[in-house]
Amino acid sequence: MVTMNQEIKQLYARIELLEKENKASAEIIRDLSPSQCMFTQSKDGILIFDHNDKIVDANPAFCESIKMDKSAMIGQYLSNIVPINKHFKPGKQREILKHKDNVRGILSIHIGKKTKDFHFTTSILDKSGLYMCTLRDITSKRLLEKKVKKNEELYTDLFIEALDGIIFWRGSGEILNANEAACRIFECTHDELLHKRLDDFVYEKNERYHRILKELFAKGGIRDELVFLMPNGQIKSLEFTVKLNSVEGYHMTIFRNVSERHRMEKELRESELKFRRIFEGALEGIFLWNDHYQIVDINQSGQKMLQMSKDELIGVSLHSILNDCNITDDELKQQINSIQNDGHSGGSLSITLKTGRKKHFEFSNKLNVFSNLSMTTFKDITEKLEMEEQLRKSDTLNVIGELAAGIAHEIRNPMTALKGFIQLLEDSIEEDHTMYFNVITTELSRIDSIITEFLILAKPQAVKFLEKDLAQIMKETVDLLSAQAVLHNVQFRTYYEKNLPLVFCESNQMKKVFINIIKNAIEVMPKGGYITISLQNTRDNKLHISIRDEGSGIPGHKIKKLGEPFYTTKERGTGLGLMVTYKIIEEHNGTIEVESKLGAGTVFHIYLPYIKKAGKQ
Ligand code: ADP
Ligand code: MG
Repeated sequence: MVTMNQEIKQLYARIELLEKENKASAEIIRDLSPSQCMFTQSKDGILIFDHNDKIVDANPAFCESIKMDKSAMIGQYLSNIVPINKHFKPGKQREILKHKDNVRGILSIHIGKKTKDFHFTTSILDKSGLYMCTLRDITSKRLLEKKVKKNEELYTDLFIEALDGIIFWRGSGEILNANEAACRIFECTHDELLHKRLDDFVYEKNERYHRILKELFAKGGIRDELVFLMPNGQIKSLEFTVKLNSVEGYHMTIFRNVSERHRMEKELRESELKFRRIFEGALEGIFLWNDHYQIVDINQSGQKMLQMSKDELIGVSLHSILNDCNITDDELKQQINSIQNDGHSGGSLSITLKTGRKKHFEFSNKLNVFSNLSMTTFKDITEKLEMEEQLRKSDTLNVIGELAAGIAHEIRNPMTALKGFIQLLEDSIEEDHTMYFNVITTELSRIDSIITEFLILAKPQAVKFLEKDLAQIMKETVDLLSAQAVLHNVQFRTYYEKNLPLVFCESNQMKKVFINIIKNAIEVMPKGGYITISLQNTRDNKLHISIRDEGSGIPGHKIKKLGEPFYTTKERGTGLGLMVTYKIIEEHNGTIEVESKLGAGTVFHIYLPYIKKAGKQ
């Protein structure tokens, strides 16, 4: 039986217990409130979940960081919000938490298109049987770390792998660090370098060195070049860039070995010089031309041969030089194409120079000798050709001359008899045969003229050479032929240079020369025109006589035939006039050149040497 007292006693005990419980609860609450405060105020996200992985609570920081409402989150399974990746497995975490205070790790959550990285710590929320996970957003920190790491790697790569030597130094040149390239340049191991000072290597601490130092400290940086002496005795020219205080108070110098470059530059200069010497010294003309067939360079011999200066020639196209000669555009193209096909070609061609002189050249081309330039070497073969031509002509002339000497007299005597008898016959015949007699007489006089010309060849020794005024002889010739010229409606234009020197010559023969050429000129202008005659002094002590007509001209390949015996294109020509002319000029040590343009006319140039007398002329 329970007494009243006992009941009261039990009641008191119960009250006491309740009071104790109340006190404990108050303590728990007192303990809880700062954590509650921490929960809402924390910058880190906090998630509270139960043993079923269901979310019980989430703090504002977490809601904000994954952009989700707390109400939408509560009651959801963790896996719907936080990906259960290899770092975040609640089941495993619970296992671990049985004997550890907390579990830490890193996890990534995809929020929209972005991914955020969190550092998480899971622990048991005491007594309640709940779990608390704090998540710290480390996205930007990780990004920054990554960037720093990348930069560091880049820097290391640059430093180590750089082809240029990089040296960090401080104070007055103590080397702190150097990369491999620097070790190679300074012919030292890394350790050896670290015990040295930069200026230990400077070959000569000369004025230049001091100037560089001065400028460096004045400007904080410099780029220059100096000669350095390596411990193994090697001397190197190094180009360098110095920057003071480039990294954390250290100075940085980047070195590059330019000795090789200098050596190559020197070699290049030397080989260029060698090329120049050969190029300029060559007896043959050499020019270089580019893809557009423009002359890029020409040597001295070339300028002399073409009688043009470098300035006049550079940039000029090959066409415009060659256009002067008798090559048509098509022929020219063909020639250039044939060059392109085999890379190496040659030939010969004629060019009329500025001075009007026609020159013959032999040339050889080599395509793409270097850097898209092609090279042509050429040689003036005018004299050689002329000599060959003269030799050929004079051979025939000699034969004719010998023949002439024998035959001329034999023919002349019977001719005189023939002439006399024909006259007698004409007088004695009563019927009118005037036409026949006319034919006979003209044919006879033609034979006579042929023989006269033959005789000139036959007896050169009978002539008398004297110093004569050729202008005077020319004037007389022009007078002599003026009647014939008027008949053909031809007019003379004459230019005589003043004070022309006298020429040692046979005046009758010279007259013969002029007559032959002028007669041809008249004959070639059936419709009339001008014959332009000029006499002038050349620089090389020759008298230059030119006789120009406005006739039909002579085709290029026929010019060679002029002066050959019996070469004539005229129905009643003898083909001996020019032969005699050439022979006479040859005997006077002179030369003849023929310049002709079809349809425009022909010029005969005669060059006669004279002996220059001191004081006179
Ligand atoms: P020929 O006058 O008797 O024909 P030449 O020896 O004087 O003999 O001339 C030879 C040839 O040279 C002429 O037939 C002519 O074809 C050519 N020739 C000479 N002079 C001229 C000229 N001024 N213009 C054109 N052709 C010429
Ligand atoms: Mg003639």
